[in-house]
Amino acid sequence: MVDALHPDITPEGSSLRIENISKSFSATDSATAPTLALDGVSLTVAAGELISIIGPSGCGKSTLLRLIAGLDRPDAGELYVGAEPITDPSAERGLVFQDPNLFPWLTVRGNIQTGLVARGLLHKKRAEVDEFMRLVDLESFAKAFPHHLSGGMAQRVALARALINHPKILLLDEPLGALDAFTRMRMQDEVLRLWQSRRTTMLLVTHDIDEAIYMSDRIVIMSPRPGRIERIIAVTLERPRQRNSPEFLHLRGEILELLHFAGNTPAGTAS
Ligand code: ADP
Ligand code: MG
Repeated sequence: MVDALHPDITPEGSSLRIENISKSFSATDSATAPTLALDGVSLTVAAGELISIIGPSGCGKSTLLRLIAGLDRPDAGELYVGAEPITDPSAERGLVFQDPNLFPWLTVRGNIQTGLVARGLLHKKRAEVDEFMRLVDLESFAKAFPHHLSGGMAQRVALARALINHPKILLLDEPLGALDAFTRMRMQDEVLRLWQSRRTTMLLVTHDIDEAIYMSDRIVIMSPRPGRIERIIAVTLERPRQRNSPEFLHLRGEILELLHFAGNTPAGTAS
């Protein structure tokens, strides 16, 4: 299928449809009311689209990704990948967290191929392991163990480990949150390069407004208690985007204002 946003490339990703989902968590003591983590959230994502989700802590971003991953079920509403309802976790929906969660006893190669081993596909797809190590520029580290890797390299292994399953949707929960500012900007380009080469549909949770503007086709702004979608902003700037262009800075001001941070908090700290 060729999507409307990027007509030149056939995406590996699928579309995603979230229809009016709600999710609450009961409190540990009976006197406290349950937390309405998500309240009537609807969102449609096109195949191959890159969406960022931003909003203050506790507004339900991770809960939303867990529901899409199939790790949890909504109280109400439906989720679909293409035409298929989401009922369980699946290798076709990859998840990458802030902590790369690598297996310390496995090499870079061992970590990247875990998904193939688990599904009994290693023999058939061994060549792909090399391909993905090349893709994230870690060929020369194939035999290295995680404790020898920098934060950025470890996160590249985590990305390759998710991408080797050819996910139709890649869910990224603040994957670059623990990296220093310079590594973070390099990794943003890395993720964009991976996205552009495969056109996996990506949902990126981030606290960093600049990261959201630099990377996404659209930015979903959420508000807490109850967790709702406050606004969706399309970013139509051409890539590669200039972080200091007037259009970029204008958009940044607009988002800060929507998050009620304009003027009273240092920019880019909407956590
Ligand atoms: P975010 O990722 O945006 O910071 P979360 O999705 O982690 O927010 O959490 C949304 C709300 O739901 C928060 O108030 C959080 O305390 C609550 N919550 C999330 N997961 C659980 C859980 N397993 N049990 C109880 N409350 C939860
Ligand atoms: Mg979270």
